[in-house]
Amino acid sequence: MEAVTVVPGQAASARLEDVPEPDPALGSVVVEAVAVGVCGTDVEIASGQYGWAPPGRDRLVLGHESIGRVVDPGPSSLSIGDLVVGIVRRPDPLPCPNCAVGEWDMCSNGGYTERGIKEIDGFMSERWRIEPDYAVPVDNALGILGVLLEPTTVVAKAWEQILAIGQRTFWDPESVLVVGAGPIGLLAALLGVQQGLDVHVLDRVTSGPKPELVSALGAVYHASTLSALDFQPHIIIECTGVPQLILQALVKAAPGAVVCLTGVGSAMAIPDHWNQSLATHLVLNNLVVFGSVNANRRHYYRGAKALARADRSWLEGLITGRVFPDEFDRALARRPEDIKVVLQFDRG
Ligand code: BGC
Repeated sequence: MEAVTVVPGQAASARLEDVPEPDPALGSVVVEAVAVGVCGTDVEIASGQYGWAPPGRDRLVLGHESIGRVVDPGPSSLSIGDLVVGIVRRPDPLPCPNCAVGEWDMCSNGGYTERGIKEIDGFMSERWRIEPDYAVPVDNALGILGVLLEPTTVVAKAWEQILAIGQRTFWDPESVLVVGAGPIGLLAALLGVQQGLDVHVLDRVTSGPKPELVSALGAVYHASTLSALDFQPHIIIECTGVPQLILQALVKAAPGAVVCLTGVGSAMAIPDHWNQSLATHLVLNNLVVFGSVNANRRHYYRGAKALARADRSWLEGLITGRVFPDEFDRALARRPEDIKVVLQFDRG
């Protein structure tokens, strides 16, 4: 069968190649791929900056944003034809206390593995296998849009943590600022709107689908600088990883705000004047800044609910490119106007 594979750590190594059928050790459920989403992490892996091959091998099957159709449910309660999404992370074998209670997204010893990212083959292959407990059924009516579940789980976890942190005090958040209108930012905005909050999204582009997608949600789009905003958000979800934007977001945050970082970015020296004033600013304003990664099973079920409640045509608007596996290069070289590009395995 065909799969997109890479040599982690080696730039420009991605290729579509013939590989053996998926190893039964990967799980008793056999799934045929419908589509696989491409995100910044895949681009980083393909450019040699991230990722780990399975032990004893050079190449890794890429892909962690899956949607596929069950072709052999094995002993699971799934049926042939069910649409499923594969959970990305597996607990570390030890396991650490977090992994032991199913909170592998909070793994504390770094021994976790991730499909298509860290030491286990991913989902960018015609067929893949999965353990029944890690196959999350999605409404068949969602079809290819189920590919948006994995990024939705990432923001479902981020939201859960934001709300949990907010409980440290009396807190009645109203305004939310999402920085960056990529797929994570837009899905974070969707979940904010679904909670009845006043959501603002900031991005630099003034054309293309982003402004319209934000207003279609009932949120406010800002193509401005952070300093130009005329309100102080109670919640900030930073989705770019750009150090300057993170610092500017901290300045804008309302006293007592919770600032969640979801994007990873490049290193930047902190300007000198921040060395002192950053601490003063965070302390005197009781700010919480935290990072959030990955998702556990609970977030998959929450994410699936959020997608089921969302407007289908809005979700379709997030998928700005559909390419076949032999055009994987196009999917990995994302154009600035792209939101989510998917590799479509199902040609039907
Ligand atoms: C994935 C997460 C993963 C993270 C770090 C993200 O792109 O969505 O599931 O934990 O990368 O590897």
